[in-house]
Amino acid sequence: MREDRTNKPNTVRNRQRVVTLKSKPHDGKTRVLIEDVSFTSPALAAAVMLGKEMTGGHVWKTGQGQSFNEIKQQVERGELPQRNDGSSEKIKHKKQNEPVKNTTETLEASEHEHEQQIKQLLSRRHLEEMDRDVTSIVYVDDNPTADALIKDIEHQPEALFIGMLMDRRIKAERAWSIPYIILSHYGTLSFEKLKDVPLDEWIAFFNRNHLHIDNKGMAKVLYLAIKKVNSEYAGDPSNLWKSETDASRLVQRFQEFHGVGDKLGTMIVNILLRDFKFPFNNLLGIDISPDIQVVKVFHRLGLIPKESKTDTIRKARTMNPDFPGIFDLGAWEIGRDYCKPSSPLCTQCPLSNYCDYASGKH
Ligand code: SF4
Repeated sequence: MREDRTNKPNTVRNRQRVVTLKSKPHDGKTRVLIEDVSFTSPALAAAVMLGKEMTGGHVWKTGQGQSFNEIKQQVERGELPQRNDGSSEKIKHKKQNEPVKNTTETLEASEHEHEQQIKQLLSRRHLEEMDRDVTSIVYVDDNPTADALIKDIEHQPEALFIGMLMDRRIKAERAWSIPYIILSHYGTLSFEKLKDVPLDEWIAFFNRNHLHIDNKGMAKVLYLAIKKVNSEYAGDPSNLWKSETDASRLVQRFQEFHGVGDKLGTMIVNILLRDFKFPFNNLLGIDISPDIQVVKVFHRLGLIPKESKTDTIRKARTMNPDFPGIFDLGAWEIGRDYCKPSSPLCTQCPLSNYCDYASGKH
């Protein structure tokens, strides 16, 4: 019996490394471990977490005398970790003493399974929100009135629209609070009334209140947006989304506004779908919004080779072609809450078992 004496955290990946180390011959006998079996298999994970080690088809005997099948049954009874979808996985045995081949096929299958787990975890937050009647997302966490203003799209659709325009290069909470500051000063968000405010005044207002890192640029973005909504959408930004159910075309509509690119165009349509339940079709037009948080998480997970907006969009399209934007909220929240730039909180992150960075590959 070989006991596992490691003090490392009891994670599948760390245990996997322990087993790999133990596979090196140090007593004259070569022990071949199953290197082509994904550790996302619950029985394998459970076996290793129990301190057991596996050869080509069996668990090395332990003092408890548990067989591979006994461990597998424990997993299936729910006594050990299960797959996220609750199903049990069929374990493929190799014949005892049969040499284990690390084939391209098995590696690809393992990578596929690995990516499926990431896909499931990243899409979970979007699906949770879709199940709610009222969104749980808090846009402005330190000001409930400003937050409620963003959510009142029935009566104040301008607030959501302005918040979307401002949500770049500064913290999201700060961007989404700008509509409230405008309302407090001008007493209205009506674009018909605000159309008479000249660009110089907007610039002065933004500067005076230190609204944005780019006060001049954002003042111009707002000024031109108000003009465009007044001339093309009867002064009401909700006419943008109320008159278009095709998500791809709606993204393009938003992108016709000065300063709105891939990130904001897809973000606002995703928000309308997820938080405000607009029943859009053609969701393949909603790409992931390549925000700095999202790109960082995709790269650290190992989904893309370098931090690149284009690669992030392409990868999300590959992972879920029908609706690439499904990963947006999950990746963004993980980036904000756990994946800190210099000291990510990997031990708390739900993706730690599937992350290249957390397993030391970066
Ligand atoms: S495990 Fe760590 S590095 Fe990986 S996504 Fe989570 S916080 Fe970021």
